[in-house]
Parts: sequence; structure tokens; C-alpha cells
Amino acid sequence: MFSFGKKTVKTVAPSAVSQISEMQSLQGIFNNLDDGLVYVDQKGTIKLINENAARLSGWTTKDAANIDVKFVIKLVDSKMVAVPNESNPFVTAFLTRKQVKTKDLSILGKNNQAIPIDLTVNPILVNGYAFNSLVIIKDIASEKLEENRLKDFISTASHEMRTPIASIEGFLELALNPKTATLDNRGRDYILKAKDAMQRLSELFGELLNTTNADDKLIVSNPKVIEMSSALKKFTDVLNQMAEKKNMSVEYKVGSSSPDDVSDTDSLSKNISPQYFVFADPKLLSDVIDKLFDNALKFSKEGRITVGISADDSYIQVYIKDPGIGIPQENLPHIFQKFYRVDTTSTRSIGGSGLGLNFCKETIEYYKGKIWAESIVGKGSTFYFTIPRLSAEQADQYSKAVVAR
Ligand code: ADP
Repeated sequence: MFSFGKKTVKTVAPSAVSQISEMQSLQGIFNNLDDGLVYVDQKGTIKLINENAARLSGWTTKDAANIDVKFVIKLVDSKMVAVPNESNPFVTAFLTRKQVKTKDLSILGKNNQAIPIDLTVNPILVNGYAFNSLVIIKDIASEKLEENRLKDFISTASHEMRTPIASIEGFLELALNPKTATLDNRGRDYILKAKDAMQRLSELFGELLNTTNADDKLIVSNPKVIEMSSALKKFTDVLNQMAEKKNMSVEYKVGSSSPDDVSDTDSLSKNISPQYFVFADPKLLSDVIDKLFDNALKFSKEGRITVGISADDSYIQVYIKDPGIGIPQENLPHIFQKFYRVDTTSTRSIGGSGLGLNFCKETIEYYKGKIWAESIVGKGSTFYFTIPRLSAEQADQYSKAVVAR
């Protein structure tokens, strides 16, 4: 209490005053930002929310303050299903103490309208423990709309092209059949070339259709418990047959986290058979490995391709190393983008659509893994991917749950 002359004035303690004005000036800064921002304490209670975040959630900044963040920022997936607690980014960022970023969720706004968002939850660590978190929300509704329009266009166009392509292929077959057409050698040669080009075109449209359907495919992903070391071993035998056709060979290494690993992984694979369980759709995973292997073959002339697998407690890591042409450093950050192809004299004659690696990235990220590549031009490339590992107990529980489903 302070005395001003005769008047006695009641005051708030100075530290509380500075805290309140600090919060007010922070709120001012928050409100001036273009993104939605929410500051959440360790109990998940909103301490500050700016106007953009409040607007997206359909609340006012005043009403949302001191409320559980999951109550205000209601997250749903692409099928409008509420995100369960165990995969809620607010919870996982806090528990794992790692940043969580996603563009696959929407926020339920006013009148339960779903707005697609780019969400980042940054846990703030104090002495290694998650303390508070800072949540950044971007409205990406127009970006998603544009993306969907493009997807629809590509999907319709590639679908429509299939009928005329099939018809041209049919007529080329008729032209090549001595029972239905007469051709001299030169004519036959031209038609055979046209048939090859047509087949390539048909594959390209197939791939295009495949990537535009990739998101839907992932949504209907049919995950199962897979023991990766034995599944990959079996798969490598098939890949070996593909490699032999090109006079190349395949080596399989269990317990090897990188191609430079010199430990005796072979004896490890013979004596101890480690169990690397994951939960994913076997068809989608084999499509990824197939694509990486296909590229390894396509971009190599000779030599040996190595397929390796290793794991720590949290992740399984697979790599595919080739002795091929390699990828220039400046192109490496872009190769997983849709339609991106490295344009050099050595790649120009090799066919492709630039869609395969994008499919691999989408699939691996869908299963919460990572994919990347390392390469030296003229020496070869190594593609790595990780995927969350299940413990033996989890594998058992998940298998039972899948059977019961
Ligand atoms: P595609 O192979 O159909 O062109 P991808 O998306 O699979 O499309 O690959 C994109 C580009 O990345 C390729 O065009 C090629 O330039 C480069 N690339 C991919 N894998 C390899 C590899 N193993 N070795 C060298 N370059 C590669």
C-alpha cells in the first residue's frame, strides 16, 4: 500500500503488474502476426492465443484463455474424424519433447466447418523436459483447394488419355500381325518403335494416375504387422532376379545402418535374427522399395546394389545403395518433389516421370518415417528411409487388434 498525501491507494504487487503488462504486450505482438499463435502451459491450458488462431477456432481470445487447448483447437483428419489423444500433436509434441509438424489435419471452426491447416507444435524445453509449447497455425484452405484442383485435372486427363492409347496400341498390334496386315521390314521397324513409345506413354499415364490416387490409396492403407528383416530378405531375392537381367547383383545386409558399416553383418544375419517389427501396408512398403530399387538399377550400368536394414529402439532404417551415375548436390534437395528429374547428359536418355520418389516420400511420411538420399556424382547414390519400430509386445498386440478388426 502506498500513501499519496492523505489518500491511501491500494496497489497490485509490482511483480504481478509487470507480469500482466508483459502478457498484454505479448498479446499485442501475437495479434500482429499473420499466423495463428497459441501459447500453452504444461497442463495443456491456453495462456495466450492471438486473434488469428481464435478466429480459426471460432472462439474469442478472451473466451479461449485458460481453456484446454484440445477443447479450443479441435483437430480432425481428412475424413472429419476427431484426432485421438494418442496421435494428437499437442500431446505427442509434449510427450516426445520434439517438434510436431503436419499439413494433414483441419481445425473445426465456427459451425463445425473444417479448415485445413499447417500446424506446428514446438515444445519449449527446460532442463530437457517439455515445459510450455508454442503452437503455430496457418490457414492453408486455398492452397489445398488449388492442390485438389490440380490433382483432379491430372487424374481426369490421364484417365481420359487411356482409351485412345489403348486403341492405338490395339491398331499397332493389328499392323504387326501378319494375319491382319502386310508390312515390309522398314514398315515393321517403324511400327515396333511406335509400339515401344506408346508403351512408355501408357506407363507414364499409369504413373500419373497412381500419384494422384496416392493420397486416397494411403487413406485406405491396409496396415499389418510386418517383420521387416525377413520380409526384406525375401524381397531381395526377387530383386536379385531383376538385377541379374542387367548383369548386376544384390547384396543384403542385416544390422547395417549404412553402406560404410564394416561390422560383420553377414554373420549377424546368420546367427542372431533380429526382429524388426513395423506396422504398415505390405503392398505400399514393397512399392516403395521396388521404386528405389528400380531407380538404383536404372541409373547404374554395372556392379552391386546393397540393401541394408538396421534399427534402434524407435525406428527401423533401410537403405539401398547403388554404384550408379549419382546425383549432383544441388539437385539432391529437390528429387522428392513431384515431376522433378535431374537433367544432365547422362540422365537425358533414361526414361522416367519424376513421380516415383514423390510417391515414396508421401508413403514413408504417412507412416511417420523419413526418407533422404546421399550421393556422389560418378560413384553412386544411397537412399535411406526410416519407419517407426514396434516392440515385440506391441507387434503382438497390434496383430491381435488387426485380427479382431
Ligand atoms: P523417375 O525415375 O521416373 O524420373 P523419380 O521420382 O523416381 O522419377 O526420380 C526423380 C529423379 O531423381 C530421377 O529422374 C533422377 O534424376 C534422380 N534419381 C532418382 N534415383 C536415382 C538414383 N538411384 N541414381 C541417380 N539418380 C536418381
